[in-house]
Amino acid sequence: MTHPVVPFFIAHQGCPHQCVFCDQVQIAGTTEGLPTTGEIEQKIATWLASSSWQTVEVAYFGGTFTGLAPADQRRLLLPIQPLIDSGKVCAVTVSTRPDAITPQNTAFLREMGVTTVELGVQSMADDVLKLARRGHDSHAVEQAIVCLKGGGMRVGGQLMPGLPGDTLVKSRQSLQRLLALRPDFLRIYPTLVIAGTPLAELYQQGSYATLPLAAAVSLCKELLHMALQANVPVVRMGLQPTDELQVAGVVVAGPFHPAFRQLVEGELCLDLLHKLTAGLHGGVPVTIHCNPARVSDVTGQRRINLRHLQSAHGLKIIRVVADQRLGRHELTVDFPGGSRTGNLLRDLDYAAL
Ligand code: SF4
Repeated sequence: MTHPVVPFFIAHQGCPHQCVFCDQVQIAGTTEGLPTTGEIEQKIATWLASSSWQTVEVAYFGGTFTGLAPADQRRLLLPIQPLIDSGKVCAVTVSTRPDAITPQNTAFLREMGVTTVELGVQSMADDVLKLARRGHDSHAVEQAIVCLKGGGMRVGGQLMPGLPGDTLVKSRQSLQRLLALRPDFLRIYPTLVIAGTPLAELYQQGSYATLPLAAAVSLCKELLHMALQANVPVVRMGLQPTDELQVAGVVVAGPFHPAFRQLVEGELCLDLLHKLTAGLHGGVPVTIHCNPARVSDVTGQRRINLRHLQSAHGLKIIRVVADQRLGRHELTVDFPGGSRTGNLLRDLDYAAL
């Protein structure tokens, strides 16, 4: 991240829908309505004063920004205008639904300094969107992204694998179709069952089963790999473990883990390490080298990756060494008489699965 993001959660504001999975109040961690002009100015000023950054990004998350009354959209964006002019706000993000994007509101957002629109895509399978009661189809996603990119916006897409009717194949195909539209970044949130939502009712009736954590990690690993190969960054995987989400009973079921992304990145590294150590004899001492940013992914939570390698190949892992010269996706294993280097993007192939 190049600058801090000042977030405003406009929970469920502007949204006339009730998607099966959604309880924006709990997810966003607030029950407040729209912030006032004074609150917007004060919060941005506080962030600027309390950080060493000269500039911040402002983001309106949750809800359907472009579904708000035009006067409300204007009221939320007006206080930011002088800060954009002075350079204190360098970017503005809003989140919304694909079917709430038009050429007219794209032009309005652009005129008001909005630089990025995050779309709740969730899936590109029409039957999954229907079962999720989204109220739009995948064509609406395509139209929205084309419209936003044509209007000069950066576009983020949010996917939610594991919805009712979803399958591993449909999740992969959804990402493929989304990547073909060239979003600028993605968020991937495996479906959780939140208390009080229609999905919680379906779950309690036995009509919906969640992805187990291990399956969600494995699927998200493949999705992350596809996105990285397409050079589209995934800025978040798994919902942020806010205080509200961690209250007992709020997450009824589903693959919730406070360090979900690390589980995914760790499994990606483990797959490459299995490849790099294939055929080595039991008891052989091995040293793993990786970029400093990868050490915890290579080691895995509670050293699980090293224990896997030891039990699968009988290897003796001497240590994991941080090496600045290696790229973020490169791993090297050294062993008596040899060395092997692999690349997470080039040397893993999940497409054949
Ligand atoms: S469109 Fe967004 S805010 Fe509205 S119900 Fe669906 S997920 Fe929630």
